[in-house]
Amino acid sequence: MNFEAVIGLEVHAELSTKTKIFCACSTKFGAEANTQTCPVCLGLPGTLPVLNEKVVEYCLRAGLALNCQITDWSKLDRKNYFYPDLPKAYQISQSDLPLCRDGSLSLASGKPIRITRIHIEEDAGKLIHSTEGEGYSLVDYNRAGVPLIEIVTAPDLATPEEAVEFLEKLRRILIYLGISDCKMEEGSLRCDANISLKPAGTKQLGTKTELKNINSFKALGRALAYEIERQSELLAEEKTVKQETRKWEEAKQRTLSMRSKEEAQDYRYFPDPDLVPIELDPDYVAEIAAALPELPEEKKHRFIEDYHLPEYDAELITGSKYLADFFEAVLKHYCNPKAASNFIMGELLRLMGEEGLDPEDLKVNPAHLGDLLQRIDEGEISITQGKKIFERVFRTGASPEEIIQAEGLRQISDQTQLLIVVNKVIQDYPQSVRDYLGGKEKAAGFLIGQIMRETKGQANPQVIKGLLIEELEKMRQE
Ligand SMILES: [Zn+2]
Repeated sequence: MNFEAVIGLEVHAELSTKTKIFCACSTKFGAEANTQTCPVCLGLPGTLPVLNEKVVEYCLRAGLALNCQITDWSKLDRKNYFYPDLPKAYQISQSDLPLCRDGSLSLASGKPIRITRIHIEEDAGKLIHSTEGEGYSLVDYNRAGVPLIEIVTAPDLATPEEAVEFLEKLRRILIYLGISDCKMEEGSLRCDANISLKPAGTKQLGTKTELKNINSFKALGRALAYEIERQSELLAEEKTVKQETRKWEEAKQRTLSMRSKEEAQDYRYFPDPDLVPIELDPDYVAEIAAALPELPEEKKHRFIEDYHLPEYDAELITGSKYLADFFEAVLKHYCNPKAASNFIMGELLRLMGEEGLDPEDLKVNPAHLGDLLQRIDEGEISITQGKKIFERVFRTGASPEEIIQAEGLRQISDQTQLLIVVNKVIQDYPQSVRDYLGGKEKAAGFLIGQIMRETKGQANPQVIKGLLIEELEKMRQE
């Protein structure tokens, strides 16, 4: 029997507010353990939480960008469970009245994926498990109280590829909105997946499993593919799929049972009596809607319209907000968008790939790339030299001018200087000269190659070609 997968995602994004959701502690990543804590986020008795307004604003930005209905009345609830990373033994979250609901985000194929809800909540601390024989764990509460939004999709995704595409699109939008840096490797974007199988063509849903510990896009695709395989085998043998939470084990490339799935009633949700309900004024929501930044799709279309970029270029460059901003910053200093996009897609992305660098960590000043492209266009340096210089610009952050000065890389276009080299090569390779004069025009290419070698690649190829042909033709007439 053939089965179809039914997949839904639960995505947690850490919001990039300066302070935590209910206290004034910093949210900065990477600080020494337990240095960004206070009685509120440590859950000490007698402390009272105060909601950070930015968290509501950021959640509404996400909701509006994802076509959600925004509620006018909402509240925060306690989700009770005991775990050492949760000092209060409850997480403040939202149960039945999320800030945003009923949104959607379409895949490139046009297929809409429904977004059931987006709500705000606090993050828990982080457990650091000992890797030595003696088992113990340390806990860092710096992350406790960092604001999160949880985005829940309907089970509209049918393949691992669709799930990965959705998550990539969603990540791009959240970054464009400026509300999260969405770094999966730092845990600021996390994704759990629900997956069940049903016989192809039917509507009846099977038992789902929830997959956790997915730390990259690749892991999401692989964990889902593994689970489809595992569940298909069980169903083919007429065994039952257990409703449970399974952990993706990256090292072994498999999912493993963690615990039987808890139901919502197990969390004993109830409204947090320490926090007042959230009433949203329509004017406030309208203000946030009006101030939404340009989103990836809009930017892509603008790049096609305004800069006449092919769709491929526009898609690739707007794939990262940082890269798109970099491209536009280059254009402030250089006016050929297609040449700039070629260079960025070729040289810049190649070097970034080699170094494993993200666009946000680029050292290159966009003005420097604009300047370099200008010099290539004007013939001051050749394209080959330009690429070499750019590699230095990329690695050091120095300006092209500094590198040209230091390396003596300026292209030689001076005719008198080049003529000397042209004549030297003509004398050194009489056979090739005879070949050329005998009608083998290809021989000129060989001679040009020798001239480039003599000048260490610094000769302007257009100029030497002109000079060489002129000299050779003179010899023909003699
Ligand atoms: Zn705090």
